[in-house]
Amino acid sequence: QNTGTRTPATTPTHCPYCALQCGMNLTPVEGGTVEVSERTDFPVNRGALCGKGRTAAAVLAPGARLTSPLVRSGDGALVPAGWDEALDRIAGNLERTRARYGADALGVFGGGGLTNEKAYALGKFARVVLGTSQIDYNGRFCMSSAAAAGTRAFGLDRGLPFPLEDVPRTGCVILVGSNPAETMPPSLRYFTELRENGGTLIVVDPRRTKTAEQADLHLAPRPGTDLALALGMLHLVVAEGRVDEAYVEERTSGWEEARAAAMAHWPEYVERITGVSVPELREAVRLFCAPEAAMVLTARGPEQQAKGTDTVGAWINLCLATGRAGRPLSGYGCLTGQGNGQGGREHGQKADQLPGYRKLTDPAARRHVAEVWGVDPDALPGPGRSAYELLDALGTDVRSLLVMGSNPVVSAPRAAHVEGRLRSLDFLAVCDVVLSETAELADVVLPVTQWAEETGTTTSLEGRVLLRRRAITPPDGVRGDLEVLHGLAGRLGVEKGFPTDPEEVFEELRRASAGGPADYSGIDYRRLAEENGVFWPCPAQPAADDTHTADPGTGTDTRTRTGTGTASGMSTDTGSGSTDAGIGRDPRTATGTGSGMSTETGSGSSGSSDAGAGLRVAPHPGTPRLFLDRFATDDGRARFAPVTHRPSAEEPDDEYPVLLTTGRVVSQYQSGAQTRRVAELNAAAPGPFVELHPRLAARLGAADGDPLAVVSRRGRAVAPARITTGIRPDTVFMPFHWPGEGRANTLTNPALDPTSRMPEFKVCAVRVETVTS
Ligand code: SF4
Repeated sequence: QNTGTRTPATTPTHCPYCALQCGMNLTPVEGGTVEVSERTDFPVNRGALCGKGRTAAAVLAPGARLTSPLVRSGDGALVPAGWDEALDRIAGNLERTRARYGADALGVFGGGGLTNEKAYALGKFARVVLGTSQIDYNGRFCMSSAAAAGTRAFGLDRGLPFPLEDVPRTGCVILVGSNPAETMPPSLRYFTELRENGGTLIVVDPRRTKTAEQADLHLAPRPGTDLALALGMLHLVVAEGRVDEAYVEERTSGWEEARAAAMAHWPEYVERITGVSVPELREAVRLFCAPEAAMVLTARGPEQQAKGTDTVGAWINLCLATGRAGRPLSGYGCLTGQGNGQGGREHGQKADQLPGYRKLTDPAARRHVAEVWGVDPDALPGPGRSAYELLDALGTDVRSLLVMGSNPVVSAPRAAHVEGRLRSLDFLAVCDVVLSETAELADVVLPVTQWAEETGTTTSLEGRVLLRRRAITPPDGVRGDLEVLHGLAGRLGVEKGFPTDPEEVFEELRRASAGGPADYSGIDYRRLAEENGVFWPCPAQPAADDTHTADPGTGTDTRTRTGTGTASGMSTDTGSGSTDAGIGRDPRTATGTGSGMSTETGSGSSGSSDAGAGLRVAPHPGTPRLFLDRFATDDGRARFAPVTHRPSAEEPDDEYPVLLTTGRVVSQYQSGAQTRRVAELNAAAPGPFVELHPRLAARLGAADGDPLAVVSRRGRAVAPARITTGIRPDTVFMPFHWPGEGRANTLTNPALDPTSRMPEFKVCAVRVETVTS
């Protein structure tokens, strides 16, 4: 293996931040931290790292992070304490809350940055140890609308159903509400190479972002109207005779209703709604339909809306009508944001799901997982509240909360209200690496290990399961999240089932996932190390005597059973282990169907599996590309969604005449809890700002740098003006990485999508005022 600058003391691993999960090498250095260096063997980033990844080691330094548990003292201060005292205090409070109010008065709030093992153990802890249904995680705020729309259309949600390496080889990509130039810069090369290869890039974004600047066509719709934009494009596809009738007939259902809905959205009507002109719409359709292969990739723009599921559904409809899904170098995909945003939603920390991406309401799924957990399926709680609804219930229905790896004081919508709910709790415990704004409110704070100090797996935006390796020993006073759950479970009377060894947890996760939609049963740590990641689904297969077998968790002999049950029979391009599985042809002339063998992967309802046994690992190659032969629905067809345009939950009016949209900057990550502690990143992005058009600035009489107050129905945020022609005159933009008076999420609207329960972060009505000092 070529691992770049690897030396014997160097550990190849992956970045702690975003869903690209760039490969990097870590070398221990004095002071207990590591030096981050290039790792060229990981194909996704080929050694490239953004500033966040390059500086990630700074948060490992003892001065930058917590190294002792903290407990709230009698005078209200957080003071250092021993681990036993801190864990006793948490367990005692959880026990008292449960005794007084019942198990559902206990809440658990997880994070999309937790490893698969932690997400799995946290979901099990909530349901088995606490017995509560009240668990959800911040990934609900990230990509849940795309997950809901993907499941509705294809029967399965995996962020990207193809590897990123397909992007430069397609003919056209529409990037909707996505700005990879700032959110995951090393991925930009895929889009640059696309254009170098003769393909075209269309960017849909209300702002002329760094990504939009590189596009062949930039469409700048009014925030919250991209559903109408997609419908307008579909209308033109029909009107111009560009529907792939044979594909629609053969591989889809529901076209007539979807077609009728699109035909009601005349281009001129769509122009009035979106602000995108009819000629621009026509050009977008022409560019998208000209090549044989094309993709639509969405990110938070269309997803973080109260109609996010339908908005993504409209873009999927466009792919289906033009025969773009489930074909080589084509399809719909979601660029997930958080480091383990994909895996975080597969293993049971979501309010409605069990491990293996199973539905909590599915009796067969409950039986299977309960068997793995050694509990009565009837004792498992049902679905709980979604993330915002859970936060909104704090202090009333939910009285005590355990937070692991999340900072909702900064990242939740209507953040001042959420902060108030957190303050109203009877008891709050937070596990984090730093004293985040949420940890500052806690009764007990537990300092936990970080990426470079622990081993575990994540699943990247491609659905590629990866092994993060421990490179250094954590400092004294710090413990892993798995140790926390082990310690709490024991104190709450559950002595077994919460191992502290991540590989042991992963072995159980494999069994729990077997036969589910996200089947990891054919993956083990050894394969992950040897193969540089494996794409799920990867079911364990009957192993011949000479195949690789492993049961590293228990060392016991294994029986072979893969949890086949009622398979919906998703056919997959399994190829030969290489992700380039026989489709290396020019997308602009390609006419064939995907090659690679079809594999029944046993997705769908879970059926029986040998839940108690270890699983023999035969070398299923993993599944880089999904749906090439059939979709994961019962009939194998993709489903159109009959979606129509509707306004945002909040439209401008006389009192709040401007639209606010929020997003990210390149040098900060999510709530900024880690990256705001890195000097280099802070220097590059020291604080929030209000981006606005010169016309709006002139109306306000504001100059660049002047403090502006942005006021919504939920509160007020103040930040300096940043004037640019790269934003619509009716819209202002604020990044959301900071707390305090510039906190953008003070303003955002918690109106929820009815299906995904995603809040409407991306659009709300505000007024903008100058601030006199
Ligand atoms: Fe790569 Fe994302 Fe880490 Fe940057 S933050 S180095 S893009 S994984």
